[in-house]
Amino acid sequence: MKPLYSMPFALTLLLASGSAALLFPAISLAVTVPQAASSSNVAPKDYFHSGAGARYLARAKMDLDIEPQRDNITVISGSGGNITVLSGPDGKFLVDAGISPSKEKLQAAFEKLGPEPVRYVVNTHWHWDHTDGNNWLHASGATIIAHPNTLKHLSESTYVVDWNWTMEPVPAGARPTLLVQARKNFDFDGTRVEVANLGPGHTDGDLWVYFAEADVLALGDTFWTAGYPFIDNQDGGNIDAAIHWADQAIALTTNRTIVVPGHGPVGTRADLIAFRDMLVAVRKNVATLKEQGKSLDEIIKAKPTADFDARWGHFVIDPTHFTKLVYAGL
Ligand SMILES: [Zn+2]
Repeated sequence: MKPLYSMPFALTLLLASGSAALLFPAISLAVTVPQAASSSNVAPKDYFHSGAGARYLARAKMDLDIEPQRDNITVISGSGGNITVLSGPDGKFLVDAGISPSKEKLQAAFEKLGPEPVRYVVNTHWHWDHTDGNNWLHASGATIIAHPNTLKHLSESTYVVDWNWTMEPVPAGARPTLLVQARKNFDFDGTRVEVANLGPGHTDGDLWVYFAEADVLALGDTFWTAGYPFIDNQDGGNIDAAIHWADQAIALTTNRTIVVPGHGPVGTRADLIAFRDMLVAVRKNVATLKEQGKSLDEIIKAKPTADFDARWGHFVIDPTHFTKLVYAGL
């Protein structure tokens, strides 16, 4: 006899009284839910049930925000990390792929920008909220561009301690095929697109994308305006490397530059400077306490982020988590 429901739907019914059920249907993506999720009414503490992933899945149920920038460049938010789109006669050039539950909404948004297909997608780094759309975008004809370490992470199983979640290898079609180790320029839609890695930053495989004529710099998760940034210490990122990327971005930009963060509203060079100054100040506070011989718990109690929490402490990384992320990199 044929089962009445597919597995995720049946489990959703079992979970109907638990808060995790609200988020569960979307987990038919590329992830496997641990046992604990189906035997408890309390959402487990992990990336897809209580962490950033849960937040991005919930956000993806709403409409996308589509904001034209300069020339033929648009920023789309609401599908994981921000997506920057260059659109023109050669087709579309994307920075980041969003998450797969947004596929139909993204297709509609792209269609409005013009009939030409997506030709290239740069993954600014390997994290799910920037790469989960790779599979459908590749299937529709796009070439996926990334740093070699991003391909490595997408090809292996990684337990991310900060997320309490194992990210499984993505399907072959979702893996980047055009690799950029240090720098590569594209002439596309009549403009120069500069893709570059500056060494370790938020991870060990970040790329930034600079649209030269429009003067738009898309920084992936090496720049956040939404709140304190995640730093993937386990995969090659650290606070000093994050500061280095911010410094280099400040050096490249002018007051005219449009600066696109991985998460949060589109910003300016002034926002980038505020971000860098916050990173430097928190790093200094944490390092000073560490040099005094204080334990991580004591450092957290001393609130080294206090001066910045009102501005930065309200997104997916709270003050305690950010303190831990900075400490881990020292
Ligand atoms: Zn990230």
